[in-house]
Amino acid sequence: MFTINSNGNYVEETNGKFVPPLFNELLGTNDSTLDDEAKMLLISNHFKQIMLILGLDLNDDSLKATPDRVAKMYVKELFSGLNADNKPDVTLFENKYRYNEMLIEKNITVYSCCEHHFVPIIGKAHVAYFSSGKVIGLSKINRIVQYYCKRPQVQERLTEQIAGALKEALQTEDVAVVIDAAHLCVASRGVSDVNSTTITSHYSGKFRKEEPKREFISFIK
Ligand SMILES: [Zn+2]
Repeated sequence: MFTINSNGNYVEETNGKFVPPLFNELLGTNDSTLDDEAKMLLISNHFKQIMLILGLDLNDDSLKATPDRVAKMYVKELFSGLNADNKPDVTLFENKYRYNEMLIEKNITVYSCCEHHFVPIIGKAHVAYFSSGKVIGLSKINRIVQYYCKRPQVQERLTEQIAGALKEALQTEDVAVVIDAAHLCVASRGVSDVNSTTITSHYSGKFRKEEPKREFISFIK
């Protein structure tokens, strides 16, 4: 457990030993030695500074708890996919029914965060696979999508990560992923285009062939 001493340094609560800020470890890696509690404490303190710099009154009833709320939201919700402990366990079942056509899970909610601006990416993911002899519980597909959404992301990487995780879980290359999403950084700032969406796709194995790809696309329309 970490706390901040009177000099503004991060120290371990138990022995008061100085702990240097670990921001480098936090960037792009999940091998941080900070636990969730420590991350929330650090983020809350830094978000408070941002609010103060913006000229907000932290004594205001409505704003007082905002740094803690934002910290909790980042660590426990929006960015919980940075913690490998939160990766969904996948159980596979035998494909007893000998179902050999493609299975499509469509309109999976995508709620992610643009890593360039830290504002939402909102859209839908459509995913398909051919069984290699095993099948997956349907809701697990949604959980895999959500796990990778809960990180600062770019849509291209999100698409590849979901495809990779599905291939690994389903033990097959026959996987397709399409994501259609609106980026609030495009809608609410810059060019302020509220109508455009971004589409990314990944086709591998059987889905690289014309016919299965066309069938998949016709189902998700
Ligand atoms: Zn952006």
